[in-house]
Amino acid sequence: MARILALFISSLAILGLQAQHISPDTLQLQVDVVFLSSNLLKGREAGTPYEKEAATYIARRFEEIGLQPKGTEGWFQPFDFTYKPNPHSETGEKRTGVNVVGYLDNGTPTTVIIGAHFDHLGMGHFGSRHVGEAAIHNGADDNASGVAALLCLAEKLKHSSLKGHNYLFIAFSAEELGLYGSKYFADHPTIDLNQAAYMINMDMVGRLNAERKLVANGAGTSPAWKDALRQIDTLGIHIVTTESGVGPSDHTSFYLKNIPVLHFFTGQHADYHKPQDDSEYINYGGLADICQLIYNLIAQLNSQPQLEFRKTKDESQRQGAAFKVSLGVMPDYTYDGKGMRVDAVIDGRAGAKAGMQNGDIIIQIGDVTVNDIYDYMEGLSQFRKGDQTQVVVLRNGKTLTLDVVFQ
Ligand SMILES: [Zn+2]
Repeated sequence: MARILALFISSLAILGLQAQHISPDTLQLQVDVVFLSSNLLKGREAGTPYEKEAATYIARRFEEIGLQPKGTEGWFQPFDFTYKPNPHSETGEKRTGVNVVGYLDNGTPTTVIIGAHFDHLGMGHFGSRHVGEAAIHNGADDNASGVAALLCLAEKLKHSSLKGHNYLFIAFSAEELGLYGSKYFADHPTIDLNQAAYMINMDMVGRLNAERKLVANGAGTSPAWKDALRQIDTLGIHIVTTESGVGPSDHTSFYLKNIPVLHFFTGQHADYHKPQDDSEYINYGGLADICQLIYNLIAQLNSQPQLEFRKTKDESQRQGAAFKVSLGVMPDYTYDGKGMRVDAVIDGRAGAKAGMQNGDIIIQIGDVTVNDIYDYMEGLSQFRKGDQTQVVVLRNGKTLTLDVVFQ
């Protein structure tokens, strides 16, 4: 019931935003997201005919915008990969995926790479959090939103006076199955990667919420990022940065080639990797603002040559702590206060049974004080199924101690 009410309220909020923000940008973003995440494309799983249809649509849009083809076969860069529905299985199925690559040549030595993956989970046989019968995973936020923003940036840069760099636009495939498309491109680039100025990745940028928080992962990969982010007009969007260049998306493939990267992300939600990640929940006005914000960042860096690269301490390695248990909650990745804020509590799991609620801020698990999401993970790694502990949360400013039994 709470869930239905929340969805109802957010739908009203979205309708309100659309009414206020209908600009040509917003309308085109909506057209791109709605088509890519429609049932016609059956979830755009890499190696299927639906992935090829999505790729063709993106290539037509690149052409319409006036980019040049920069794949290996026109707009396309096909690549082979092994699909393993179970990551532990020895054998897999050979498949061919396809990246879509467009170029804007300004006749300069250096090139900015802008990317977003367009594949998703198809019917949910791999990587889905859906329980029950196979269903189309439309992937509107993940990542039709990023592709729409990629097209929006291509359109803006095509008509802009920013000629300090060339621009390469890549729609990656097979990201969901293991970053295969971006790895392939980074190993078989169609431009000289030594001349790359920096790389921007957009993965899940469609759910800018009322707090208007946008995560920029990888801000430690160049000393230039934070200054630039501070100097630009963010349109009232509050940017939360993380340092690491390694994360679960395509920018990692470029970071590992010593290219400064930034990954934009509007945060995790309860529909993540479920059939409910649909186009009606996208904040199109917010998406248009994110496109403009990234354009402003590119403008800020227009006269800078290649950004200086820094290796980062890879925080995500701490995620390697072995989990035998979970609380069954979705972390709020946009939260930058002390503790770990819960975005959504999943029914029937340990957290829900202990009385945890959406919006609770976890500040302690057992003996571990939780200052951030990494402490939270470390806290969880101490327990096994059947263990009991106390989890301390902040709710409306009050401290509550909950008794948790790990299932
Ligand atoms: Zn994604």
